[in-house]
Order: sequence, then structure tokens, then C-alpha cells
Amino acid sequence: MKKAIFLDRDGTVNVDVGYLHQLKDLELFPWTVDALRLLKRAGYELIIVTNQSGMARGLIAPGFVEICHDEMRRRLQAGGTDLDGLYYCPHHPGGSVPGLDIDCRCRKPSPGMIEDAVRDHGIDPAASWVIGDKWLDVQLGHAVGARSILVRTGWGEEQEQKRPAGQQVEAVCDNLIHAVSVILAER
Ligand SMILES: [Mg+2]
Ligand SMILES: [Zn+2]
Repeated sequence: MKKAIFLDRDGTVNVDVGYLHQLKDLELFPWTVDALRLLKRAGYELIIVTNQSGMARGLIAPGFVEICHDEMRRRLQAGGTDLDGLYYCPHHPGGSVPGLDIDCRCRKPSPGMIEDAVRDHGIDPAASWVIGDKWLDVQLGHAVGARSILVRTGWGEEQEQKRPAGQQVEAVCDNLIHAVSVILAER
């Protein structure tokens, strides 16, 4: 069984510009390549799990997500690392695009995307972590028996001020590279 880092995308790996829908707005954080290279060297599969409700809302063109993820991988590969998997949820029950306006099993914090990744890649969730800038990312990790880190980039700083009652989290970190240092320190 492999271990994985399940990464939220917007606000965690790249700047959250709100419904990212054009490549010119794709900006990785300055530490993202180094952070992912360190995790990969430590033996983790790197898998992005991202809600893209902008597709259901008609704000993101069909096919853009693949174009965006190809470009993201190109930049990571240029820096000597890569992703092992990429899962996105295009749905939202309040959406306007037929077929995507559904209450699905994959929209975070529902665990559908991680369940698929665990099956596709042979991953042990208990040996894995979720890193994200929203409490729903933290909740997603705990729902599958993984550990979770909230980062203060993206919505994280605001989320930290609105911690749900009783919400547990393994760590709150300034950013992705700080989260990596926490994960590597426990080995
Ligand atoms: Mg996010
Ligand atoms: Zn979905």
C-alpha cells in the first residue's frame, strides 16, 4: 500500500483567483515546486483533489480543467517533480449546466474523489495526509481516516478565524512548504 498527500488546488498549490478559467491566471506559489519535490522524495504519491463548481455554474469552459492541469504538470516537471493523480468535481446542486447540477458523491467534503484515488492507486489513507486552505479539506481528510493540515494561504487565514465548534486538525501552517516540514518531521 502506498501513502499519499492529497492536495487541495486553489489557495494551496496555486493562488486562488476565484473560478480560475484562463491560463494566464494560473500562478503557483513560489514554494510549490520545492514542497512537492520534498514530498515525492519522501515517498508520497501526490494527488490533487479539487472542487470546480465553476463548471456546473457555467463559469469554466468544458475542457479548461484538463488544459490547466496539463500546464500545471508541465511547470512541475520543469522543476523536477510531478503529480501522480488529479481528481476534480465539476458538480454543484445549484449549478445551471445540465448534467453537472447534481448533488454528487465527489464534492468535498464528501470523500468520493479520495475513495476513487485510493482504489486507483492502492493508497492507505491512514498513512496519508490532506492539505488544504478550507475546513472542508480538513474534514475530507478525517472522513477517510487520514490526517489533515490547514494552510493559511488562499482562504486559510479567514477560515482559521471561523473554526467550526469541535473541529480538530493536526496542524495549521502558514503555507504548503511549512506543512511539508510538519509532515517530514513526524517520520
Ligand atoms: Mg482551496
Ligand atoms: Zn462531484
